[in-house]
Amino acid sequence: MLDFCIIGSGISGSTIAHYLKKRYSINVHDKARGVGGRSSFKRYKGKIGFDHGLQYLSPRSKEFKSFTNKLIKKKILKHWTGNHEFLNQKVKRDKKHVKLIGVKGNNDISKFLLKNINCNFQSELSEMKRQKDCWYLRFKDNKYIYSKNLILSIPFPQAKKLSSKFVKTKLFKNKLIMNSSLTVLLMTNKTGIKASSFFTNDKVLGWVSKENSKKRFKCNKDLWVLQSTFEYGKRHTENYRNKKKFYTNVLINKFKKLTKIKIRKIYFTHIHGWKYSSNSKPLKLQSFWDKKIGLGICGDWFGGPRLENGWLSAKDLYNKIK
Ligand SMILES: Cc1cc2nc3c(=O)[nH]c(=O)nc-3n(C[C@H](O)[C@H](O)[C@H](O)COP(=O)(O)OP(=O)(O)OC[C@H]3O[C@@H](n4cnc5c(N)ncnc54)[C@H](O)[C@@H]3O)c2cc1C
Repeated sequence: MLDFCIIGSGISGSTIAHYLKKRYSINVHDKARGVGGRSSFKRYKGKIGFDHGLQYLSPRSKEFKSFTNKLIKKKILKHWTGNHEFLNQKVKRDKKHVKLIGVKGNNDISKFLLKNINCNFQSELSEMKRQKDCWYLRFKDNKYIYSKNLILSIPFPQAKKLSSKFVKTKLFKNKLIMNSSLTVLLMTNKTGIKASSFFTNDKVLGWVSKENSKKRFKCNKDLWVLQSTFEYGKRHTENYRNKKKFYTNVLINKFKKLTKIKIRKIYFTHIHGWKYSSNSKPLKLQSFWDKKIGLGICGDWFGGPRLENGWLSAKDLYNKIK
């Protein structure tokens, strides 16, 4: 029987998997089609694609800085040399923190951490039960496995729904709200706009990034990632699937209006709703571990809204387990 089954292949799942693999038998399940969760990379053709969620990392803690430095040496991460601006605002740029990106895509870190680990995609955990000192885990496709221990590295509401009856602490009593947002990936003709990434003070369109500024591939078109504000996401993420064209156009039109950009041709669009995009209010603990029942929980939401918080949470959980 497996020692650990890990649910989620985002930064927290891939980090805990990487460390546990050194001592235990493990496998990873994710309901998505590929690696990375909210730091996934949407491929368009060949090497060309878009960072779908996370745009760049800016390490703050000593521990995470040292980890990312190792990945720079291994050519998994590189410095992003673009500028992060504030559209039509006189707000100073954040020059204090370095900004890093994956060499091929922002899911490169998870890919690296999950190397040689058995990963099962399109595999959604739908039920967990304690049976004779182990976990009985049933997946949406009706497959099931047994595992001595279980790690959930998934957003707060999803972890709560699956595991609240097994968690005897106050973890799920926290009123943690995860914001929602919509992302539109957009490929246009070359527009001549130099900006690489900027926030706006608009109520609908919150953040725009230009994928070309990451210099991962050559492309004679402009690749944009348009992110809605949380305020707009809160009202529309639940229903966007029924009106994808409409919401795609709302964000594109806002983009055109705010930047006065001239788009002659649109080659590709894709819209995605992040129901659990991020939370701004951190909890007092970094992760959860109950040795008695072999249940661990980690994720960015313990510490805050950034990828680094997910990594720190997974490291904290590993230290508790070992
Ligand atoms: C639009 C957007 C922009 C962002 N920009 C930045 C940024 O610039 N910088 C930054 O540092 N952070 C950014 N973030 C936040 C960052 O992406 C997250 O903090 C980080 O990716 C969270 O990692 P995680 O492993 O904790 O969770 P996730 O990445 O969400 O991983 C959880 C995984 O679990 C899977 N899953 C969920 N439920 C189940 C189930 N029942 N069965 C199987 N699998 C399941 C999901 O498919 C997912 O792959 C951004 C996030 C979004 C959405």
